[in-house]
Formats: sequence, C-alpha cells, structure tokens
Amino acid sequence: MTTQPRRRPRVLIVGAGFAGYQTARELSRTLRGRAEIVLLNPTDYFLYLPLLPQVSAGVLEPRRVTVSLPGTLRHVRLVLGEAGHIDLDGRRVQYTDPEGTPGDIRYDRLVLAVGSVSKLLPIPGVAEHATGFRGLPEALYLRDHITRQIELAASAADPAECASRCTFVVVGAGYTGTEVAAHGKMFTDALVRKHPAWPEGARPRWLLLDVADRVLPGLDRRLSDTADQVLRSRGVDVRTGTSVKESTREGVLLDTGEFVETRSLIWCVGVRPDPLVSELGLPVERGRLVVTPQLEVPGRPGVFACGDAAAVPDLHRPGEYTPMTAQHASRQGKVAARNVAASLGVGTPAPYRHSDLGFAVDLGGVKAAANPLGVPLSGVVAGAVTRGYHLAAMPGNRVRVAADWLLDAALPRQAVQLGLVRSWQVPLDTASPEVAKAGPGRQTGAGRGEE
Ligand SMILES: Cc1cc2nc3c(=O)[nH]c(=O)nc-3n(C[C@H](O)[C@H](O)[C@H](O)COP(=O)(O)OP(=O)(O)OC[C@H]3O[C@@H](n4cnc5c(N)ncnc54)[C@H](O)[C@@H]3O)c2cc1C
Repeated sequence: MTTQPRRRPRVLIVGAGFAGYQTARELSRTLRGRAEIVLLNPTDYFLYLPLLPQVSAGVLEPRRVTVSLPGTLRHVRLVLGEAGHIDLDGRRVQYTDPEGTPGDIRYDRLVLAVGSVSKLLPIPGVAEHATGFRGLPEALYLRDHITRQIELAASAADPAECASRCTFVVVGAGYTGTEVAAHGKMFTDALVRKHPAWPEGARPRWLLLDVADRVLPGLDRRLSDTADQVLRSRGVDVRTGTSVKESTREGVLLDTGEFVETRSLIWCVGVRPDPLVSELGLPVERGRLVVTPQLEVPGRPGVFACGDAAAVPDLHRPGEYTPMTAQHASRQGKVAARNVAASLGVGTPAPYRHSDLGFAVDLGGVKAAANPLGVPLSGVVAGAVTRGYHLAAMPGNRVRVAADWLLDAALPRQAVQLGLVRSWQVPLDTASPEVAKAGPGRQTGAGRGEE
C-alpha cells in the first residue's frame, strides 16, 4: 500500500502592494517552506506609489518606482492575474491573466490586499475629461500629456489656445494632489525655459483646488502651512474652499462660477477601496472589508485582509479605523503574515497596533514638508529626510532611484513624449488602475484550468 504525500497548505495572497508584498515577504521568512505561498497580482512588480508624482514630472524613470516580485520574493510563487470572483465557501479564487485567459486557484488561507482605486464624485463631465492618479499607466500618460501641451502651446497661433494648453487644474490637495502640483509646476517651468520658441509673456499656470480650508487637510497644520507657502512661492494658484461644478472639453467650471479654460484636469480627490471587497457580500465600512484587530474576517476563519481594502480597528483611537496609508498597509502586511503563520501552527497571533510615525510630502527640488516622530521640518532638511525615508522604505531599486535624483540635480530634465499610453487606456472610472486598458479585439485563451 502506498501512502499519499501530505499536501502542503496553500496561502494565497491577492494583491502585491504595500500590504500584500510585506505579507508574502514575512511569510516566506517565517514558514520556511512549510506552506506554499502564492501571490496573485496583475503585474510582476510592486509599485512604490509615493514616488509616482516624480514619474509624471520626469524626475524618475517609471521602472525606478517598481520592484520585481519574482526577483525579490524568494519561495513565493507569482501568479500573474486579476482576481474577479472569490468563492469563500469553496475556498477558490477565479482570476484572469494578462492575456485574458481565465484561471482558478484553491487556497487554505486567503489574504486580501487589493488596495484602492480612484474615488469618483458625481460631477458632470469629470469621468470623461479627468485623468486619475492611482497607477503607473496614468503617471506615464500624464508625463506625456504635460509635455505635449507645452509643445502644442508653443506653436499655437491663437493666444487663447496657448493659455488653455498651459493651464493645469489639480483637484484635491491631499498629499497626492499637492505633490503632483508642486512637481508639475517645476516640470512645466523647466520645459518652457528650454523651449527655443516659447511665446513672449506666456506662463504655465497650475491651479490646486480643494473643498477644505487648507492644503494637506488630513495632516498636521504645520505641514499644511509649509506646503502652502512653497506652492504659492512657486506660483501655484492654491484655491481652498473651492471645487469643480462641471468639466467639459474646453475647461472646468468652478463652484465659484469661474470658468477655467484648460485641457488638463488631474483628479486627486482620494481613493475608495477596490470594489472586489464589497462584492464579497461581507460587512464593509465605507467599502473597506471589516476585520478584527488580528486582521481576520469575522465568521470566516482563514480569511484575512489588510491595507487600504480593509477596515482595521485603530487600537490607539478606539472606535476609529486606521487611515489608508502606505505606513499602515505595510505594517499590517507583516501582522497578517504573523497571524496566518500562527493559524498554521507557527508562532502566536497578535493584534495590529501602530501609531503614526509622521508624514513626508515631497514638494520637488530640495523642498519638502515632513514631521518625523511629530517634529515639524521644512526646506532642505525636510527634503533630505523625505528622500532618505523613501529610500529606506522601498524594498528594492534604491540605487537606481538615488542615481536618477543625482542626474536630475545635475542635468536638464529630458523632455520627450513617448506616446506609449493613450488617454482611452487610462479611464478615471476603473477598478484596475494598475494596468493600461487593452484595446478591442484582444484574444482570450481557453482557460488555465484549476490549481
Ligand atoms: C500617488 C499616490 C501617492 C501616495 N503617497 C503616499 C505617501 O507619501 N505616504 C503614504 O503613507 N501613503 C501614500 N499613498 C497611499 C498608499 O500608497 C496606499 O495607502 C498604499 O499603497 C496601500 O497599500 P495596499 O497594499 O493596501 O494597496 P496597493 O499598494 O495599492 O496595492 C494593491 C495591489 O493589489 C493589486 N490588485 C488590485 N486589484 C486586484 C485584483 N482584483 N486581483 C489581484 N490583484 C489586485 C494591485 O495591482 C496592487 O499591486 C499614496 C497613494 C498614491 C496613489
């Protein structure tokens, strides 16, 4: 009589962002081959989102802000694909791979770390005319778009067209919008300075709008004051207490009644959890999957969630949930790994408990606003701390990022548009900001079968 070898339990992690990447990394260290670790993600890289504004401003090459999953996660099997349906009773996840082929994967433990997507507001014209800022395709599109607008403005015969092309409206003055506007203004100023036939008197104009009464509304007031002062000194038109009423091909109608002629509306109003989690039919809090302090889904043993997609109780502020930040997501990923391992008999479980260590907002050049451990910093010191923080927080590719920063400090910025991403490939209303939308007529395979 032959005995069947015992099957290793399979841990399936869906999403390889801040939370999922850390879960996979920690699990491969702690389990040491005692379970199969499978990571399901649409791309073969982890994306370091906080540096995305520097990609759209041409400071960093796009591949710098990515970290190869197969290259850095040992003992983790990467499955390229996007989860579409999760069968919690049958313990299976259905997905579609990048070539459209469907697949199906079984699990013993599941970690949901699918992050978030751009938040839409019901404002006429915004879904059609605005560009989001949640993934690499959008950042690449924006870099080209900004360059193209400046080049077309330079050759426009009509001064009104030139002014419209030179005007960029950013909605949302959280850390993303603030960084996009701060870097964007420097980028367009640099493009104009280098342009041999720039029209006399024309100036790139950046508007940063927010309904709140200050920029960086969720952060320490002193960071807001620093960012506000840097933005204004750079010439960004900061409009607090202001929003968009309508967007058209010609421009943007503000709620003050003013119409701003522009070809560029950049939507940074925030994010909402990936819609995949609300489709599970489980309790959610503002679209985030409700979990226990141990990051487990109540009533579903073996199912965990963390990062932006999960409503994690904030044990330092009873009654509240932890904010959607990279800091929380990556730390939650480590705790999820610990608790998954404990559920497999390795180590002991622990609740998620973490208080903010401060925030860093890169304002371009050598400027930043930061408050590490609550100490407010501005100017060059904040700039150095912010860049040092990013290098320390990135799980790889640090030397290349630092090299790009050095090159940017020493050389003029390279102004070319590659045209690789088109506007229709980056719709604002999408559940998959991490990949550019594929064109019509794409072949789909017969299916990968079950695993
Ligand atoms: C431009 C920008 C700048 C930011 N700057 C900062 C900052 O300076 N500091 C800070 O603390 N936070 C910052 N944030 C927020 C921070 O990036 C998020 O809070 C963090 O990324 C959340 O981590 P996560 O793992 O939950 O999600 P993500 O990092 O978004 O990862 C989600 C992963 O899931 C994958 N995925 C999605 N759907 C599926 C699916 N159906 N199937 C399989 N995989 C899927 C995605 O491809 C992605 O790899 C910024 C965000 C943005 C957009």
